Amino acid sequence: MNTFKYIIIFLWAGIGIQIQAGAQDLYSLPVLPYAYNALEPYIDAQTMEIHHSKHHQAYVTNLNKVIAGTEAASQPLEGLLSSISRYPVAVRNNAGGHYNHSLFWTILTPNRNTQPSKRLLDAIVKQYGSVDSLKTLLNLAALKQFGSGWAWLSVDSNKKLVVSSTANQDNPLMDVVDIKGIPLLGIDVWEHAYYLKYQNRRGDYLSAIWNVLNWDEVSRRYEAIVPAGMFDDWQEIKDFHGVMSQTFHPSEEGNLEPIKARSGEMVAKAEALANGKIPPAFDTPRVNEAVEKLVADSKKLDKLVQKKAKDEEITKALSDLHDTFHTIVESCSTMEEDH
Ligand code: MN
Repeated sequence: MNTFKYIIIFLWAGIGIQIQAGAQDLYSLPVLPYAYNALEPYIDAQTMEIHHSKHHQAYVTNLNKVIAGTEAASQPLEGLLSSISRYPVAVRNNAGGHYNHSLFWTILTPNRNTQPSKRLLDAIVKQYGSVDSLKTLLNLAALKQFGSGWAWLSVDSNKKLVVSSTANQDNPLMDVVDIKGIPLLGIDVWEHAYYLKYQNRRGDYLSAIWNVLNWDEVSRRYEAIVPAGMFDDWQEIKDFHGVMSQTFHPSEEGNLEPIKARSGEMVAKAEALANGKIPPAFDTPRVNEAVEKLVADSKKLDKLVQKKAKDEEITKALSDLHDTFHTIVESCSTMEEDH
């Protein structure tokens, strides 16, 4: 029997939930990062205490019991979840229960008025219009979940936000669910999460929970899963790159139709880049010069397309323009490294 304690840190796309493993048991109940009464009046102390010390503890105890001496005990928790179809339903329920509650405690906080980070807010607004619309969608998913389960906001494999719900203790990491992703937040809609205070009024519990949602932690998870891009603050160069990537790569395979159709648009994007504001981090003479050249190269290319020049000439002009674009990218990358 192992007598010393150690900590297993699970890393899943850079995010971790720390779980202490004891001498006999692989999993143990994480310490609640605030007092049982800290979320009053939105979530009452008695509910929190029973939920954490009884319900979550039961998932931990049962998980240790059902995996003891089996291959499942050699898997990290998240590896277990992503291949959960291979395991008995008792493993599924208790591994899910342990993961889901460990996450749930961290995405709640006694701190009022935490806010999504700028990048998470941008992603929410882009996808759902507003934080309020996202809340409405999540509450709807939670209300529609028949019986016990969870509502989720996750990041899918395309790094897009996705809202879903699951039954019982399933979650979006599991290979058995329809909508997969890495959870940013999960809302427990089992009756044990709200019945003492809200009885059958699940909607009232859902309205209240947003008052204690820990947007700092949800944002931290988002930032870890979707790292900042070099050009996040420079929309014009992302727009230009969009047209460039959709025209240059086909041209490399001998298909000039995309650039012939979009050479005018390329000029417009280059001019928008030149007329827009270069982010301070990249605003150097070298980058400014390359942006001016980008406009000139785009116009030259467009002129060739307009007068139906030979394909070789168009290909050469597009290749030159592509080189100029990469001069900008490389200048900026060097500056990033210098930071
Ligand atoms: Mn629960």
